[in-house]
Amino acid sequence: MTEPAAKAAAAATEAGPIRTGAEYIRSLRGRKLKVYLFGELVAEPVDHPVIRPSVNAVAETYDLALRDPELASTASPYTNGRVNRFLHIAQSPEDLVKQNKMQRRLGQLTGTCFQRCVGMDALNALHSVTFEIDGQCGTAYHERFKAFAAMAQRGNLVIGGAMTDVKGDRSKAPGAQADPDMYVHITRRTKDGIYIKGAKAHQTGCLNSHWLIVMPTIRLGPGDKDYAVVGALPVDAPGITYLYGRQSCDTRSMDGGDIDAGNARFAGQEAMIVFDDAFIPWQRVFMDGEHEFAAMLVERFTCYHRRSYVCKSGVGDVLIGAAAAIADCNGVEKASHVRDKLVEMTHLNETIYGTGISASHQATRMKSGVYLSDDMLSNVCKHHVTRLPYEIGRLAQDLAGGLMVTLPSEKDLRHPEAGAVNRAGASDCVDNIAAASSGVKPPRPTSTRTPTSRRTIFQTKCDPSTRKTMRSPASTMSRVSRRTSVDFSSGSSSEKDRKSWKPTSRAAVARIRARSRSSFTHHTNGLANAVRLRAT
Ligand SMILES: Cc1cc2nc3c(=O)[nH]c(=O)nc-3n(C[C@H](O)[C@H](O)[C@H](O)COP(=O)(O)OP(=O)(O)OC[C@H]3O[C@@H](n4cnc5c(N)ncnc54)[C@H](O)[C@@H]3O)c2cc1C
Ligand code: SF4
Repeated sequence: MTEPAAKAAAAATEAGPIRTGAEYIRSLRGRKLKVYLFGELVAEPVDHPVIRPSVNAVAETYDLALRDPELASTASPYTNGRVNRFLHIAQSPEDLVKQNKMQRRLGQLTGTCFQRCVGMDALNALHSVTFEIDGQCGTAYHERFKAFAAMAQRGNLVIGGAMTDVKGDRSKAPGAQADPDMYVHITRRTKDGIYIKGAKAHQTGCLNSHWLIVMPTIRLGPGDKDYAVVGALPVDAPGITYLYGRQSCDTRSMDGGDIDAGNARFAGQEAMIVFDDAFIPWQRVFMDGEHEFAAMLVERFTCYHRRSYVCKSGVGDVLIGAAAAIADCNGVEKASHVRDKLVEMTHLNETIYGTGISASHQATRMKSGVYLSDDMLSNVCKHHVTRLPYEIGRLAQDLAGGLMVTLPSEKDLRHPEAGAVNRAGASDCVDNIAAASSGVKPPRPTSTRTPTSRRTIFQTKCDPSTRKTMRSPASTMSRVSRRTSVDFSSGSSSEKDRKSWKPTSRAAVARIRARSRSSFTHHTNGLANAVRLRAT
């Protein structure tokens, strides 16, 4: 273990776990990670304007556990105390269901990826796989793994799950690649541990983690033994370089200002990790050459992770609320096509959530005692996630109109001359955008508002501490149901509602759309990108 990682682990166990989001952010400082972004070495990732929002999103997982311990923490058999739910090994289907509920809530709170699920799902998958390798091969991985999990739980640490290799020629197995480094593999074994080389791509939250768990990415054969490696190493271990991944609209956070930065406070993070003879001590190695278990690990990990994507239904809640608020602001909230679209967005969003959470409900007990979600339903959830958020985004884009993609920059809105021209109309648009990003209903447009009062209203909407009206699924449903006269929360509608609710046929929807003044824009990416709906 490196000096800083050893210190962090010792501090975590002796001085107690990281508790708050602020403590978590402090724990990331001073690690001297080798991180490249835009062709430059980043001095302190925590302070970089592109990276910081992603740190804030993870910090929210700590603060939620304090605000709502029932939802985001639980009792662990390994520490005899409460631990963050992201580090818990599922003891029942109910534990998996609660993971999903926590993920939806965090999606609502951050409107983005909060990054801790990959590690959570890797821990749960490894619990059963290490147990079964030991049972068949006489190894001692399971006890090592449990010691590692307990250490992470005691320190309340963040774990990144490093599975996806860069792969090279996809038609060839890892051992048959022209360049052996296309898949992470063991280069040396010593009495102290192993050295690994290669790269992992698209690594969610890796810089914001304390530890990485490296895992194989595909089924392996007898010729791939050195690629059958699972191990945990600190994020700041020598021999690791990080290449930060681009996000759409990411340079907006470097533009300055506070109203035109998309989701200004929170963001996701992916980077490529390059390992150049990075060391893993034996005590942290959980697979070494047992190639026949690689497919089992990949399948179990993806089974957990594919129902973790209910996170997107939390993000969908924000988007539905934002779309409804913009319709209000534009004075079209009563139009039947607007109501139909909000209903459709809600239906699609709940479909993702419904399949994810039912996969958790139907979990089964593995030999090691951990529970694994239903594989069919988990995969159906994943299939929905690769499609439905785009349709939800398309409908939101339609309701928002063209401003989402063509609004002048904040610098123009604040310019003494250009801003004056814009003030009467465009500043109301800014209020709309603020509402969209905060999920708060904006006031009706008015040209009599002064720039100062606009700014105050705007800041109130955007400041998460005052964002009390961020919608819960229930409040989103009741809001939509109020508009559509359909009671989603109880699954039925009142007599009065039933009378006023007229289902619209597909042909009628097509006619309404054709007539609609707010015709479909070609810029279907805009709003979806703004909230970074990413289906992986
Ligand atoms: C936002 C985001 C976050 C992510 N986070 C993580 C993370 O935290 N940890 C992690 O480990 N991974 C992560 N991933 C990686 C993700 O799991 C992979 O992107 C996914 O598994 C697909 O792999 P790939 O990108 O290498 O695609 P590719 O393998 O390049 O696939 C591209 C296309 O080629 C096809 N193809 C590939 N191989 C074959 C073959 N042999 N025969 C026929 N067709 C083939 C595929 O079906 C696909 O259509 C993330 C990805 C994204 C986009
Ligand atoms: S994309 Fe969703 S499931 Fe995956 S790490 Fe991010 S928040 Fe979690």
